[in-house]
Amino acid sequence: MNSLRYEAPSSLGDAIALLARASGTSRILAGGTDVIVQMETDVIEPELVVDIKRIPELRQIAVENGAFRVGAAVTGMELTDHRAFCEAWPGVVDGVKLIGSMQIKGRATMGGNLCNASPAADSVPALIAAGAIARIAGPNGTRDVAVEDIPTGPGKTSLAKGEIIVSFLFPPRPARSGDAYLRMTPRTEMDIAVVGVGVNIVLDAGGVCTAARVSLGAVAPTALLVKEAGAALLGSRFDAPALDRLAQAAGAACRPIDDKRGTKEYRVNVAGVLAKRAALVAVERARQNPTGRSI
Ligand SMILES: Cc1cc2nc3c(=O)[nH]c(=O)nc-3n(C[C@H](O)[C@H](O)[C@H](O)COP(=O)(O)OP(=O)(O)OC[C@H]3O[C@@H](n4cnc5c(N)ncnc54)[C@H](O)[C@@H]3O)c2cc1C
Repeated sequence: MNSLRYEAPSSLGDAIALLARASGTSRILAGGTDVIVQMETDVIEPELVVDIKRIPELRQIAVENGAFRVGAAVTGMELTDHRAFCEAWPGVVDGVKLIGSMQIKGRATMGGNLCNASPAADSVPALIAAGAIARIAGPNGTRDVAVEDIPTGPGKTSLAKGEIIVSFLFPPRPARSGDAYLRMTPRTEMDIAVVGVGVNIVLDAGGVCTAARVSLGAVAPTALLVKEAGAALLGSRFDAPALDRLAQAAGAACRPIDDKRGTKEYRVNVAGVLAKRAALVAVERARQNPTGRSI
């Protein structure tokens, strides 16, 4: 067993330097609800753990040019307690609220949910549907990357050595916009998604869909942005044919596995059904938001 070095720097620069210089296995620790479980079960044996919770810019929820910027180490409870964010992005909050128990949400973060890179991570399809952009800082500077480009496979991300996700920028919320995230699990509590669907839409004054993003989780090695599913809704009033086209496109994008939670066929079918339901929740929220949400 290797000895473990624990560091809790209070600056982003120090955290990056520690990770960039590390010679053995290292891990960032945000809430630790994945990392500590993996250490306890010997899935990983890091020599360095860098706790990022003392770094101010990772812990803030701020408004920037009319848009929310949420620190990557803001906990689920902090986010779900933020009234203005909950009003602007209820679908993202749907996803975060589903992460574990209240105790888990008191620790767990969206940065950790994304970078643990489980295909079934609950906040990720909602972040992708929202069009959230991750700000990444590392030894070579800062870059902004769409959330869908970060997971590359189960347990794998496109982050380079020493890179840390600092925050997520959500686009400004126009009038008549709404989002939703729904998941299907065999149990009602503390289970992993068989399918998760995030939908984010904008309506015009006549109720016609002018923008739509649809993302699926747990049906492929990474969460997917399904452009065809969004396109199926464009120009529609969410009538039955448009919803059928959405379900068809969602099912067609799935590349699921068979496991004890469900067969491939079951997952494909559920993806279509959930996509329709999530779209209808998003539309209802958009209709309740005729003037846009003030931030
Ligand atoms: C009982 C239980 C129930 C759970 N239920 C659910 C559930 O229903 N849905 C669900 O999606 N998940 C669930 N999880 C998994 C876990 O809680 C989530 O994935 C959580 O969001 C992880 O966040 P964290 O801050 O604890 O991550 P950590 O464990 O701290 O980190 C996870 C990974 O991300 C990396 N990382 C963390 N932050 C950053 C960053 N800012 N930049 C770069 N890399 C980073 C770490 O190095 C590590 O590899 C559950 C876990 C437990 C123990």
